[in-house]
Amino acid sequence: MVNAFRGHYLVAWPDGRIVAGATREFGTGYDPRVTASGMHEVLREALRVAPGLADATFEEFRVGLRPLAADGLPILGSVPGRAGLWLATGHGPTGLTAGPYSGKVVAEAALGLEPSSDLTPFGVARFSHSDE
Ligand SMILES: Cc1cc2nc3c(=O)[nH]c(=O)nc-3n(C[C@H](O)[C@H](O)[C@H](O)COP(=O)(O)OP(=O)(O)OC[C@H]3O[C@@H](n4cnc5c(N)ncnc54)[C@H](O)[C@@H]3O)c2cc1C
Repeated sequence: MVNAFRGHYLVAWPDGRIVAGATREFGTGYDPRVTASGMHEVLREALRVAPGLADATFEEFRVGLRPLAADGLPILGSVPGRAGLWLATGHGPTGLTAGPYSGKVVAEAALGLEPSSDLTPFGVARFSHSDE
């Protein structure tokens, strides 16, 4: 994996494919469109770092979202008033790294075991207002 400053990266796969990523857009909601400026940004940065890719065959653009809660913390734990419903979401740009551990502690709680970490700061109840 080549991580060449500015938050972009290149990942090479054994079959010769190269993945170039990625834009980071804030405040765009859940808009999954491939935009002209996004394509331009990713290709410009990839070719700046690896100009030899200019002759590569282009295959596809993909869009992924990085949903994040307003306070930046993931949302982990049970949903008050909804028995049996558990949340492990809102990891934003770090879900591949943190997601497996979040899944483990939420699974522990759902099974009635003592979670390996205190889930209280991550509970969805932190978004409910005291006057409701
Ligand atoms: C370009 C990009 C680069 C990233 N790089 C990194 C990185 O380097 N390191 C890192 O830690 N994280 C990275 N992330 C973030 C990471 O991918 C996410 O935080 C993580 O995937 C979130 O996991 P999740 O299980 O909460 O959601 P998701 O991975 O989005 O999984 C949700 C699943 O639910 C399914 N689903 C949705 N709606 C329904 C429905 N109604 N019924 C049934 N199924 C449904 C979806 O198909 C999907 O499979 C990156 C994200 C993007 C977009």
